[in-house]
Amino acid sequence: MSQDLFQAPDYYQLDELLSEEHILVRDAAREWVKREVSPIIEDAAQQAKFPISIISGLAEIGAFGPYIPEEYGGAGLDQISYGLIMQEIERGDSGVRSTASVQSSLVMYPIWKYGNEEQKQKYLPKLASGEYLGCFGLTEPDHGSNPGGMVTNIKDMGDHYLLNGAKMWISNAPFADIAVVWAKNEEGRIKGLIVERGMEGFTTPETHNKWSLRASATGELIFDNVKIPKENILPNKDGLGAPLGCLDSARYGIAWGAIGAAMDCYDTALRYAKERIQFDKPIAATQLQQKKLAEMITEITKAQLLTWRLGTLRNDGKATSAQISMAKRNNVEMALTIAREARQVLGAMGITGEYSIMRHMMNLESVITYEGTHDIHLLITGLDITGLPAFK
Ligand SMILES: Cc1cc2nc3c(=O)[nH]c(=O)nc-3n(C[C@H](O)[C@H](O)[C@H](O)COP(=O)(O)OP(=O)(O)OC[C@H]3O[C@@H](n4cnc5c(N)ncnc54)[C@H](O)[C@@H]3O)c2cc1C
Repeated sequence: MSQDLFQAPDYYQLDELLSEEHILVRDAAREWVKREVSPIIEDAAQQAKFPISIISGLAEIGAFGPYIPEEYGGAGLDQISYGLIMQEIERGDSGVRSTASVQSSLVMYPIWKYGNEEQKQKYLPKLASGEYLGCFGLTEPDHGSNPGGMVTNIKDMGDHYLLNGAKMWISNAPFADIAVVWAKNEEGRIKGLIVERGMEGFTTPETHNKWSLRASATGELIFDNVKIPKENILPNKDGLGAPLGCLDSARYGIAWGAIGAAMDCYDTALRYAKERIQFDKPIAATQLQQKKLAEMITEITKAQLLTWRLGTLRNDGKATSAQISMAKRNNVEMALTIAREARQVLGAMGITGEYSIMRHMMNLESVITYEGTHDIHLLITGLDITGLPAFK
């Protein structure tokens, strides 16, 4: 990729809504992405290689457990700082942000919220430092949007549980040291458990040939009579609400992350349009390209305001799951639309790896599907405002 010339748009002076700490945290992440992610990410994506060398850097900028208390190795930051870190990382690449989201919200969060003190002490500091990489197994081959129908199960064998089943589309799976897995017990109740690499009967085959999130490793989790020690069950919450609580945190981070991807596409298109001369003038001087660019900055600004407000609600413990769904859905669609428009602004150059836009565009096709599809988030808003579920 050519040199990273990114300049973040702030059309409504939103920096004035941020504290000094927010800006420090964000700028540190922004600099790190420019220095460590931008130079290697295009190659990693082209080769479909997970850039494992950046794990320690992600830990250093506080991307693993930004809001987890410092006593467990987290950064002890608020929800706005967490969001800003996700925004900056996804400005670099959605796959890298996925790695951080999974580690923080889908592995560290459930251990922190639903685990006992021993589990927290055992796993959280290692996950925060990047010594351990984690993954989150909810989706199954036959249960995606409807995870409550899962068939992966545990049987109580007295001194341990026996785990059987399979999970699919699991980010980080091929490299993960531990997996937070959701399985039904004999009463049909969903329980969370920690499965460790090396347990007999546990394998994590990689999923190949993705055109999206190519710099993020995806795989399956296969459980064939895996013996799970009883101390690996997360004791403090069960039922579908437990994994959904993790998804709230991850979806909130995605809402911010999508703004980062959109900013990068807009910034790239704006610069290119001002430099590219056709018919003896910059294409930025044409009404058609100005319409595209003006609509991009308008949508980014609206998303920034929506998401900042959501962050303040989360800081006050007042954000609802439905509000998070609305922001995730709106912002990812916004980013995908901007990526598609921005790619056209670059003409043929837009399809090359010289620029980040096509990579963002392909990545966002996963982001609009995972952590609840675009349709499902609409149905969540529909349920919230009407009180009537339309899932079935
Ligand atoms: C790259 C990638 C990484 C992922 N990482 C993880 C991970 O780390 N952990 C994990 O557990 N999962 C992960 N997922 C899985 C992801 O969360 C699921 O793909 C997602 O929940 C959708 O499930 P599905 O693909 O089975 O689609 P389906 O549920 O089969 O949906 C197919 C289509 O039908 C629509 N649909 C479904 N139900 C309804 C309904 N009631 N009304 C109207 N339309 C409906 C959907 O919106 C969609 O358009 C990942 C997916 C991808 C692509």
